[in-house]
Amino acid sequence: MTAAIIDGKAIAATLRGKVAGEVARLKRDHGVTPGLAVVLVGNDPASEVYVRSKSKAVVEAGMAPCDFKLPATASEQEVLALVARLNADPAVSGILVQLPLPPQIDSQKVIAAIDPMKDVDGFHPVNVGRLSIGLPALAPCTPTGCVMLAKSARSSLAGLEAVVIGRSNIVGKPVAQLLLAENATVTIAHSKTRDLPDLCRRADILIAAIGKPELVRGDWLKPGATVIDVGINRVAGEGGKSKIVGDVAFDEARNVAGAITPVPGGVGPMTIACLLLNTVRAACALNKLQAPSV
Ligand code: NAD
Repeated sequence: MTAAIIDGKAIAATLRGKVAGEVARLKRDHGVTPGLAVVLVGNDPASEVYVRSKSKAVVEAGMAPCDFKLPATASEQEVLALVARLNADPAVSGILVQLPLPPQIDSQKVIAAIDPMKDVDGFHPVNVGRLSIGLPALAPCTPTGCVMLAKSARSSLAGLEAVVIGRSNIVGKPVAQLLLAENATVTIAHSKTRDLPDLCRRADILIAAIGKPELVRGDWLKPGATVIDVGINRVAGEGGKSKIVGDVAFDEARNVAGAITPVPGGVGPMTIACLLLNTVRAACALNKLQAPSV
């Protein structure tokens, strides 16, 4: 079997187009321009690249960008004061504080200070709780993208066996909640799981969110499985250059899986697209307007 490649780039581009359409509708019919505030503290190069691509995507979708850069020496009080100002600003529909924060700042305290209605990362305990009890919530972006990609390969996930490898608050746990909401039968595996290959062989849907290059081998997969690879791992490539690989050994897996996301070009592009979608959802909720039909 040669797996179908799930083209995250194309699916994300379609989603971004739909979001841009919703933004235009909100402006035209309601005079509302969704605004995303991105707060970057310090000079982490990976965070700077990520924040730049977010701001570019925000502008392309027709939304109002609003970027704040604080020095690495900023105090927790300064960050909390900025979050309070953004909570109160009606032009701001979504607030994203780029993680990780410098060590003098308690990330959980900052996340908890964000208005849950503006929590477009979906990390606030209120949104985590609402997601887990099946109430409408702003759900984390990468997990939302993973489920959209899985659904692009299988129209319904109901009754399917899903195995999620990884139990982080950012990916593993929320993606498991979202799969449960789609009526999949979900197992969460982690570093202490016994006989991971055998567990994976049960999976109709396998989500790998581990951070270990090519840990998941082809013979761990059920033939025909849908494989969503969240991992981003930089490894040595040919000619002394580095390259990015996922958590799944792609060349082996594509001979067994029914559908698989590539790395790069799979889950990655979905994260920003879902962030834009969450910002539009937040703008609608804040203005008591109907949620977008996307
Ligand atoms: P994390 O380090 O917080 O969590 C990793 C999880 O993997 C842990 O729960 C751990 O128990 C589990 N794990 C580690 N070794 C294992 C093993 N040998 N067997 C089974 N489980 C094991 O990482 P994270 O933030 O969840 O990110 C996971 C990966 O996804 C990373 O490569 C990260 O870069 C990537 N990521 C990608 C995106 C994107 O937009 N594509 C977004 C977030 C994270």
